[in-house]
Amino acid sequence: MQLKCKNSWCRQPFEVTDDDLALLKELSPVFGGEKFLLPPPTLCPDCRQQRRLMYRNERQLYHRTCDRTGKEVISIYSQDKPCTVYDQTVWWSDDWDQLATGRAFDFRRPFFEQFSELSYVAPRPCIMNMGSENSAFTHHAPYNKNCYMCINSGYNQDCLYITNFSIHCKDCVDCLGTQHCELCAECVDCKKCVSSTHLHECENCSDCRFCYDCQACSDCFGCWNLRHRKYCFENEQLTEAEYRRKLQSLDTARWAIAEKYERAFHSHLEQKAIHRNILTIQSERSTGNRIVQCKNVRDSYYMFDCEDCIHCFDCGDTKSSMDALEPYHGELQYETNGCNLGYHLYACSKSYECRNVYLSEYCFSCTDCFGCFGLHRQRHCILNKQYSEEEYERLVPQIIAKMRADGEWGEFFPEERSPFAYNETVAQEYYPLTQNDVTKRGWKWKESEEMPKMNRVIPAAKLPDRIDDIPDDIVNWAIECAATNRPFRIIKQELEFLQKMRLPVPRFHPDERHKRRMALRNPRHLWSRKCQKCGKGIETTYVPERPEVVYCEECYLKTVY
Ligand SMILES: [Zn+2]
Ligand SMILES: [Zn+2]
Repeated sequence: MQLKCKNSWCRQPFEVTDDDLALLKELSPVFGGEKFLLPPPTLCPDCRQQRRLMYRNERQLYHRTCDRTGKEVISIYSQDKPCTVYDQTVWWSDDWDQLATGRAFDFRRPFFEQFSELSYVAPRPCIMNMGSENSAFTHHAPYNKNCYMCINSGYNQDCLYITNFSIHCKDCVDCLGTQHCELCAECVDCKKCVSSTHLHECENCSDCRFCYDCQACSDCFGCWNLRHRKYCFENEQLTEAEYRRKLQSLDTARWAIAEKYERAFHSHLEQKAIHRNILTIQSERSTGNRIVQCKNVRDSYYMFDCEDCIHCFDCGDTKSSMDALEPYHGELQYETNGCNLGYHLYACSKSYECRNVYLSEYCFSCTDCFGCFGLHRQRHCILNKQYSEEEYERLVPQIIAKMRADGEWGEFFPEERSPFAYNETVAQEYYPLTQNDVTKRGWKWKESEEMPKMNRVIPAAKLPDRIDDIPDDIVNWAIECAATNRPFRIIKQELEFLQKMRLPVPRFHPDERHKRRMALRNPRHLWSRKCQKCGKGIETTYVPERPEVVYCEECYLKTVY
């Protein structure tokens, strides 16, 4: 069936297929032996994704006090948020009564209003980085050691500013989606690369710089689409001696030179490199992008080992799910945000190891719960109040009837009830809006926090060009971002890395750097266009107006290999 997005600013038509309806039926919860059907979505897939992302602040970290101990903590919730925030070790302990905030459902008022009230009084953890060592400024980041601003990334050591599922990396700085890399900087979606900078979609490369889609290469500079090559400069084969001489003459420890080759890298991407329409590896009947070892995955992005998923994002080992955002080991999930090891969930956010849990947030190892916030190891709870199994099974259908009457059943938590301002969340990264657009929709906007006053401020343009001329004292200065004027600092660990790698000091604020790396990734959307080699119709994440050369899978493989 063809539907129209109900958001007044969108109104995009979208298709709900028979497959979607069959999956929705499977995802519908059962109470007292009766299935409570989830209705077709009212928002288009993009608006649904945007709404979930508005509940996700990944990288804006603040100092605030723990509402239980009064101790200062690092948190994704700034001090002005009207939430109850506990130090994560306190939150995970059994030292407080999780059910103290429980309340009976009031049938005269809408569900989301009551859930929202509960969510502000029930304690939530300040941040999530348990199992990490010496890595205070990290979030959604387990088991990191000596890391700083490591976001949505785990099992890394001595890494700074690495994000978006960067795992098992060592000594890396400013990377996005890198796995098993060492001594890398400014790399995006790379695997097993060593001693390299400015790589995009590269694998098994070492001592390479400014390369795109290269595999098993070493000592290459400014190259694209190469396999098993050595000593290439802008795709021209040189002898080892020629290559070394060439590189020595460049002096990439200078910002001006690094900037020149970054510009060249972007122009190679646009004019010379060949791009495959979408990336799917060892997958069957799947559409989307970056689909690895999947079956029957449709309009989904960054997926591995998944089966029967629709409109899903960043999933691993997930089955029979729709609109699931970043679950690892998930099954039967609908409209979820970051629910690892979750089975049969609808509208859940940041909840792990849950079964048959609906409309809940920050619940861990819970079973059969509805509308709960911040519980561990509980069963048969509604709005954090404990019931017997019989009462639970009898009460939930009555609440669903009320939700249906109010048009709430089948929806994720409403955008305006997110504790975060729009521009604090990942929604701003994927669906950037101006302050004006955000406030017009009744959503929140946050002015960026002032940096603690630094006595010495230097505009980025005034920094010495070469890393060798940067004094160690730079760590005591605030640098004004060349693009946004937002002041930022270089930390000691970062300076040491830059000196060791002979890289110039960055001139952009870390958020701006992140934004530029994100821009290297394509939108999570498919367009129709023609293969520029054989003319066959293809689906691709490159919008037709883009200048890049895009080939179908077959032509790409024939040309590159
Ligand atoms: Zn829409
Ligand atoms: Zn082709």
